[in-house]
Amino acid sequence: MSFSSDTPKFRVAICGAGIGGLVLAVTIGKFANRDIQVDLYEAHDSITTIGAGIMISPRITDVLEALGLYEEISHFLKKPRASSHEQLRKSDIPEGGFEWFSPIVGLGNPVHRQHLIDILKRHIPSSCTVHFNKRLTNYTKLSTGSLILHFADESSDNTDVLIGADGIRSSVRKTFFETIDGDLVDPSKIGHYIDPSWTGTLMYRAVVPVEKLLETDPNATTLEDFIVVSLRESGHDGQE
Ligand SMILES: Cc1cc2nc3c(=O)[nH]c(=O)nc-3n(C[C@H](O)[C@H](O)[C@H](O)COP(=O)(O)OP(=O)(O)OC[C@H]3O[C@@H](n4cnc5c(N)ncnc54)[C@H](O)[C@@H]3O)c2cc1C
Repeated sequence: MSFSSDTPKFRVAICGAGIGGLVLAVTIGKFANRDIQVDLYEAHDSITTIGAGIMISPRITDVLEALGLYEEISHFLKKPRASSHEQLRKSDIPEGGFEWFSPIVGLGNPVHRQHLIDILKRHIPSSCTVHFNKRLTNYTKLSTGSLILHFADESSDNTDVLIGADGIRSSVRKTFFETIDGDLVDPSKIGHYIDPSWTGTLMYRAVVPVEKLLETDPNATTLEDFIVVSLRESGHDGQE
């Protein structure tokens, strides 16, 4: 039975059209139909991504299945369903490694980020309006409980619920902690939550065409199996 009507019960603003913001918009559209009006605000002029691969783990596979997206993404995966036999090894160990056996948190199958973004884009529900070139700077609360969103182009908008999906330098998180009641969080720790700081750990990542790998090492294990190699540098453990 559907309880959906054409009049939205409340408005949700999602700040940031990355993987997190897009998945939330698709999820609300699928399960709430038009009961919830969604406004998705993206700082850039399009929905795009940088970076190469992203892992589709068994848990994420379940989520994609529930959203009805797995069939589409499966065409881009190396194997039809995430394997539970991936191996992890340190770079100073020439072969072998440790099996990553958990069927829940197993590393899963890599997919190019752009393919995932493109599929999510195609499934943005009709109840969602995407606003480009809208960089949220901060928000203010009204006594009624609703929120006013302020953008870098000096425009503003209002909403009932604001979700921060604006990445590691989130303006939503920053405003939240800048305005939080001092009784709820130790004031001496708030700065740490407002501005992210570097932990000192570096992670290098690259994509190598299969043809190039075949030229240098036709028997490379990675042609058949998925392996994560951990590099040790300056006393820190990197990955891959
Ligand atoms: C090299 C690398 C490899 C990774 N590999 C994996 C992996 O294999 N598997 C995995 O699960 N995760 C991986 N991650 C982590 C994953 O990329 C992030 O967790 C994920 O991208 C976070 O998504 P998000 O939507 O929260 O934020 P983001 O992808 O950062 O998206 C934020 C969006 O918000 C927009 N935005 C930012 N500020 C504002 C603002 N003020 N107003 C409006 N819009 C704004 C941005 O333009 C962007 O579109 C990796 C990360 C890196 C760096």
